[in-house]
Amino acid sequence: MKRIAVFCGSSIGFSAVYANAAKQLGHYFAQHNIGLVYGGGKIGMMGILADTLLENNGEVIGVIPNLLRHEEVAHTKITKMIVTKKMSKRKVTISRLVDGYIALAGGFGTLDELFEALTLGQLGIENKPVGILNTNGFFNHTLKQLDVMVTEGYLKETNRNMLQVSNSVEELIEKMANYQAPLVSKVVNTVASK
Ligand code: AMP
Repeated sequence: MKRIAVFCGSSIGFSAVYANAAKQLGHYFAQHNIGLVYGGGKIGMMGILADTLLENNGEVIGVIPNLLRHEEVAHTKITKMIVTKKMSKRKVTISRLVDGYIALAGGFGTLDELFEALTLGQLGIENKPVGILNTNGFFNHTLKQLDVMVTEGYLKETNRNMLQVSNSVEELIEKMANYQAPLVSKVVNTVASK
């Protein structure tokens, strides 16, 4: 994989384990020549990830919508910043640049981006791997919710299993590199089957 989009918090979180995970991922990307595409911020997990890559001569491309481009938020030292007019255009721009997606700990923005990537895969619009780095079991409840969706007939098990999960950076990237997209129907308005 040449470039990967990473979705992660604009906040830093209360525990240092999450910032450390962002640093680990940044080091891995730099060492393996994987370019980072991300929200373009210098704050929170985003800033730590981008700075780690930059300190290790990695490529960092930010894609930021005009409305978030405040001086105190946007990173000014990255390899390239692409400014989009709208939030929706930003997502399309990111998807054109990358071979896969990873989510780290974050809030609404992170989950929104993660689930949009999964939805594109579910509809067969994209077949790129989507992974979460499950540091400290941060996403355990989210994963449990996905299981409930399967049990209650709202999500196909094959689509549930599109999401690659690991708490190790190496294992996650390996799983993503070996990812085979399911043969999915673009018709989603049917009863889920296993
Ligand atoms: P959140 O998880 O709610 O903190 O939102 C973080 C995610 O949403 C990141 O992956 C970004 O792509 C995007 N995002 C949210 N706030 C900002 C911001 N101030 N600057 C740039 N991107 C942001």
